[in-house]
Amino acid sequence: MKTTQFVIIGLGRFGSSIGRELIELGNEVLGVDRDEEKVQELSTVLTHTVIADATEEEVLRSIGARNFDCGVVAIGDDIQASILATILLKELGVKKVVAKAVSELHGRVLERIGVDRVIYPERDMGIRVAHQLVSPNLLDYIELSKQYTIAELAVPACLTGKSLAEVNPRGRFGCSVVAINKLKGIVIAPTADDVLAEKDVMVVIGTNDQIEEFQESIG
Ligand code: ATP
Ligand code: ATP
Ligand code: CA
Repeated sequence: MKTTQFVIIGLGRFGSSIGRELIELGNEVLGVDRDEEKVQELSTVLTHTVIADATEEEVLRSIGARNFDCGVVAIGDDIQASILATILLKELGVKKVVAKAVSELHGRVLERIGVDRVIYPERDMGIRVAHQLVSPNLLDYIELSKQYTIAELAVPACLTGKSLAEVNPRGRFGCSVVAINKLKGIVIAPTADDVLAEKDVMVVIGTNDQIEEFQESIG
């Protein structure tokens, strides 16, 4: 993957977590926070850190914000600061700006001012956890559209030792197993003869209803 240059505004729990991971993934990250302590904590982790108020245009200009590929505005509680920092990054010409919203209204404002992606970390994680709580086999999922989902399902005891032909997900529910993640490695596009084992994870694609029915049959 090629190195991308990121600027992160706000080094609270959300911003610092994004920053650490981006570094792990081999990118360059400039972290900005007005709180000296937050900056101190990350000064040895991120590529560069700056103590500054990101609502001041001159500040963002002087750190060369316009040269970054992507900006992340990770300010939550101070909605005014979040909006100002977002507008400034957009106006300075940062190609892609992603911002965290603490409420639906905050998110709508961010969208109006041209943010490329709004993230609602608490709301989205809450929804995800609720899905996992009601379906213990569901490890994770991606919504492809309103109707279609890719889900990671843990193989329960009742399916271990069975082949896909025996389990028959496509015949019974209409959903397909696109991969089986095994301890030894991943089997892509498994066929009818592939056998499920304990600790395997199935990656299943289908409509929400098909996947739900499959899950219920094995839950
Ligand atoms: P988290 O939940 O990620 O910990 P939060 O949603 O509670 O954060 P805040 O604590 O309001 O959000 O902000 C995150 C960080 O953004 C804080 O470290 C804060 O110092 C910083 N911050 C807030 N306003 C500004 C600003 N104008 N310029 C730079 N940094 C700012
Ligand atoms: P189909 O009519 O569904 O295409 P088929 O007659 O070609 O199946 P096989 O490909 O041998 O027969 O598969 C037999 C059954 O095994 C299928 O009906 C399906 O339910 C199940 N199966 C095989 N591969 C998968 C898969 N990747 N995901 C879900 N089910 C599968
Ligand atoms: Ca918070």
